[in-house]
Amino acid sequence: MTVPSDPESRVKALEQVLVEKGYVDPAALDAIAEAYEHNVGPRNGARVVARAWCDPGYRKWLLEDGTAAIAELGYSGRGGETIRVVENTPQVHNVIVCTLCSCYPWPVLGLPPSWYKSPAYRSRVVVDPRSVLSEFGVDLPADTEVRVWDSTSEIRYLVVPMRPPGTDGWSEEDLARLVTRNSMIGTGLPNPAEESMR
Ligand code: FE
Repeated sequence: MTVPSDPESRVKALEQVLVEKGYVDPAALDAIAEAYEHNVGPRNGARVVARAWCDPGYRKWLLEDGTAAIAELGYSGRGGETIRVVENTPQVHNVIVCTLCSCYPWPVLGLPPSWYKSPAYRSRVVVDPRSVLSEFGVDLPADTEVRVWDSTSEIRYLVVPMRPPGTDGWSEEDLARLVTRNSMIGTGLPNPAEESMR
């Protein structure tokens, strides 16, 4: 049997095996998956980012004391003991990694994608971030400084991407929908305003 590369397919394959063998109740698994997808996952981080985009006071607090500002929105706990928030600007683009293992800000991003845990990403993003970003489809202007933040179990990071143009007056809820998981890791950008208008 081949192992699917993306986490979602892996989980489905694992679930199938466990259920077939009678080890677990599918309803219990669904409840856990639901919690990670909707409550613990990147949607939390997206709400934090959208709030920062709309509220300058919150943004300032978030950058000064990420852990407290994030806890204010109800996101805290294991893997989020200390979260430092870094903000992308036209001058600086931030990327997060854990060179040692796979430390990740769980309360705001959920579980890390498999590529985040891969030795290739962990080693290459530090020495040649621009090439790695390019492979993710992020091509930055030559004069933008790229900062790579190495997470540990003590301090984990969240990136606030730049607010997409054309979103003046949007509600936090609508803005949050533009915020992708990768944009909060630094390996992606938020979705543009046009694409979300279905
Ligand atoms: Fe780690």
